[in-house]
Amino acid sequence: MRVDILSLFPQIAHSALSESILKRAQEKGLLEIHSHNLRDWATDKHRTTDDTPYGGGQGMVMKCEPFFAAVEQLRQPHSRVVLMSPAGKPLKQADAQAFSSLPHLILLCGHYEGVDQRVLDHLVDDEVSIGDYVLTNGALAAAVFVDAIARLIPGVLGDSQSALEDSHSHGLLEFPHYTRPVEFRGSRVPDILLSGNHGAIAQWRRQQAEAKTRAVRPDLLS
Ligand code: SAM
Repeated sequence: MRVDILSLFPQIAHSALSESILKRAQEKGLLEIHSHNLRDWATDKHRTTDDTPYGGGQGMVMKCEPFFAAVEQLRQPHSRVVLMSPAGKPLKQADAQAFSSLPHLILLCGHYEGVDQRVLDHLVDDEVSIGDYVLTNGALAAAVFVDAIARLIPGVLGDSQSALEDSHSHGLLEFPHYTRPVEFRGSRVPDILLSGNHGAIAQWRRQQAEAKTRAVRPDLLS
């Protein structure tokens, strides 16, 4: 998969996506991430990417022209253009799974009050929110989005880091994990996990996952 990220803060996404598992995925050629400065597609001498809103009001709006120029240069016939936006469709694990099979994503990151509506109307295939809260800019959101997708690309996670049992993969939150020591400050690892009985352990984990989901996210069970 290739990902092109267009933002005013390319270093934010680059830093977040250049460590650990995603760094190795890029070294293995499973993933290619390019974090661009949108100002590179501005045409005036001040490299302007925003302007005041028509109709008045506070803040600045990101202009159409740099987004159109950048997407028109980077877009391939198979590309999907995604706008990071708190007004977009909230990202779910199933969406991350679907995006992870695409060959090319172009991510548009807003700043200030957001982007000119004509970008959404004529360039964007998907408007994606990473949650019901508002960040200062889209570069952080793009990094979260890419991380969620990239770890689902076959080969990115090793077997020991399999995503199959992760929270949200089967409509449940994940069961609790323990590692050494068996006892820490009076708190013991549940005996079942030391029993070696794999069937009983699987059953216990399922029960724990259901109980946690019921307590914390009952909406997932309905
Ligand atoms: N005025 C906009 C609104 O109310 O919808 C908020 C703009 S926000 C301050 C600036 C940029 O940050 C957005 O254009 C978007 O790219 C990004 N952003 C903020 N929160 C986000 C979220 N929850 N998910 C995805 N992107 C987000």
